[in-house]
Amino acid sequence: MNFKMLHPADRIVMIMSRIYNSGMTTTSGGNISVRDDSGTVWITPSGKDKASLRREDIVQILPDGSVRGEFAPSSEYHFHLSIYMCRPDINSVIHAHPASLCSFSVLHKAPDTSLIPDAASICGDVAVAGYAVPGSSELGDIIADKFSKDHRSVILSNHGVVVGGSDLYEAFNILETLDYCAKLETNAKRISGDIRKISDKHIALYRLRTSDVLEDYEPDDMGTEGLESSREMCRLISRANSRGLFSCTSGTFSSKLSDGTVLVTPYAVDRKYISPSDLVRVSDGKKEKGKSPSRSVVLHDMIYSCDPGIKSIIIARPPKIMAFAVTDADFPAETMPESVFLLRHVKKYPFGSSFMQPGMLSKEINSESPVCIIENDCVIVCGKTPLQAYDRLEVLESTASAIIEARSIGGEIHSFGKNEIELIERSMSL
Ligand code: 13P
Ligand code: ZN
Repeated sequence: MNFKMLHPADRIVMIMSRIYNSGMTTTSGGNISVRDDSGTVWITPSGKDKASLRREDIVQILPDGSVRGEFAPSSEYHFHLSIYMCRPDINSVIHAHPASLCSFSVLHKAPDTSLIPDAASICGDVAVAGYAVPGSSELGDIIADKFSKDHRSVILSNHGVVVGGSDLYEAFNILETLDYCAKLETNAKRISGDIRKISDKHIALYRLRTSDVLEDYEPDDMGTEGLESSREMCRLISRANSRGLFSCTSGTFSSKLSDGTVLVTPYAVDRKYISPSDLVRVSDGKKEKGKSPSRSVVLHDMIYSCDPGIKSIIIARPPKIMAFAVTDADFPAETMPESVFLLRHVKKYPFGSSFMQPGMLSKEINSESPVCIIENDCVIVCGKTPLQAYDRLEVLESTASAIIEARSIGGEIHSFGKNEIELIERSMSL
């Protein structure tokens, strides 16, 4: 999917339905605009069902201020135009009411973007704007004031959030990342009073990992096994994205073929629309010419070399299990038969292990210990098939969700003892 080749009206319809479907806005809430190269602003109509917009519903506000379209433009056009006026680098604005961010909005607080790497660089410094009546020019002035101070993410007190990007895809990435940070912080606070932030030193180390440069090679046509695996991986990647396990750009999936070639997700390609031709082949330490594999591909390769029984690996940051990665709270995997059987004992490793000590980590992850948590970074799961790795990721997130809810309900969380675990393992491996 080449998003840049889509007309602004089609881009808006596509992203609005994505925002709605992921629960980041309500039927009539939120609005999106895109400023095109002629200065015309394409904007969602006011008060329409945001889940079923059509391209012809999108309204144009021309540079002379005249309006073209079947419906009235969004009632919030004041702030969209005010942002464009003060920020020539911003060409798309999204306003939404995700419940996760509305929690911060009613508290007049910004979510913490320093719990995982990348979030702060994607969202920038998050501002909190004071309240003004929706649709008023006063609200436009308040928001524009924050954007003029270089913010690109603004929490609106008692209302929602506004983000701006150089294009609509970037704005969407900011919104999704901010929503993720809000969910992560909320989940973490439900299990511990002590949340660990990522330090500037750690972020600097994390950035260094982008410098892994693999030599190019030109692979032959892909055989049937590779085509089959690519198809299966793309199906599961898009499924992980719609289940909130992968974001638009985060989440790495790989599979090893019988000739030793590793198929891996590309760096920074939208996980929702990933297609087999986007996947990157890596073989003998070289990568497919013209493509950029995930930055963690070296770790994948090492894990495969250490345990030939592993054929698929996923690295992700689902918002529930990551609550255990940003706190010292124990993750009790031995609480349900499926989590005992599929996850086994889930260990935690310090931030940086995945890229500073891939050799050490690859010896720790294997068929016996197929799941681990890297503090403030990610979870790694593997399996003997892509489906098994994916199943483990779902079970991990679902168990984390159950534990977080149980903590909120209150009472003792009962874990299985050694005997019960042995019986479960015996019965489930039959
Ligand atoms: P519109 O439908 O007019 O864009 O309004 C939605 C909204 O969120 C107002 O703040
Ligand atoms: Zn609103």
